[in-house]
Amino acid sequence: MYIDSHAHFDLTLEDSGITESMLLENAREHGISGAVQIAIDIGSSRWSLDFAGRHAGKGILFSAGIHPSSPAGEGELRELEKFALDAASGDAAKLLFGIGECGLDFYRMRQSRETQERSFRFQISLASRLGLPLIVHSRDAMDETLAILHEARAASGIMHCFPGDRNAAKKVLDLGFYLSFAGNVTYRTATVLHDSASYVPLDRLLVETDAPFLAPVPVRGKKNRPHYIVHTYRYLAELRGEPLDRIARAVHDNFMEIAKHEVKKIQV
Ligand SMILES: [Zn+2]
Repeated sequence: MYIDSHAHFDLTLEDSGITESMLLENAREHGISGAVQIAIDIGSSRWSLDFAGRHAGKGILFSAGIHPSSPAGEGELRELEKFALDAASGDAAKLLFGIGECGLDFYRMRQSRETQERSFRFQISLASRLGLPLIVHSRDAMDETLAILHEARAASGIMHCFPGDRNAAKKVLDLGFYLSFAGNVTYRTATVLHDSASYVPLDRLLVETDAPFLAPVPVRGKKNRPHYIVHTYRYLAELRGEPLDRIARAVHDNFMEIAKHEVKKIQV
């Protein structure tokens, strides 16, 4: 029983030669009991809702959001707001996991810093308004990300593909957020991540693939798929000196705790 807290099924299916049902069947066979399809822009937010709807009852939830590398002008932000409000008040509400992925990416810098910050703040406030958790992406921008989360009083969420050291981990924990580790934690040279992944308390730990990116050892370099997450769970169990089933159970419980929110704070 494994949870994948962050995957891009749409990007994983692109040029893969496999069908949606094969991908999900594979995940099921490997014991994946729940996964979140993460959106990166308006188009993928719509796809994510449809995807989760097509597979309702199979543990697939979805997010609505704009990635810091995606365009986020006034038009896109208003469209996201409308989409999220509709989703949160319609039939899909029970499948809507959170808002994101949003945040800051100063490594790629595909959008200006100003655009990224504005979009991030907008999505923090949208998540608060809807009572939904926030899915945060932060790359080469940890201090700035934490400052905005503090200032905007982000209430709950996940820092996905956690990229920082123990100090950063502590600050994220102090905010009340969960930390989700991706396949790059299994890389031999990722010693900083090994340290932070040993440090995070079990009740704040999540695991993800971020498929199709960051496939874990021993499938590193391949296009990542949700069922490869088993390798990351095994690695974390060994790193932390805890039984695999204990880690899997804890991540499952953490995930259920985050997902049990009710979409009830809607003010249209
Ligand atoms: Zn992602």
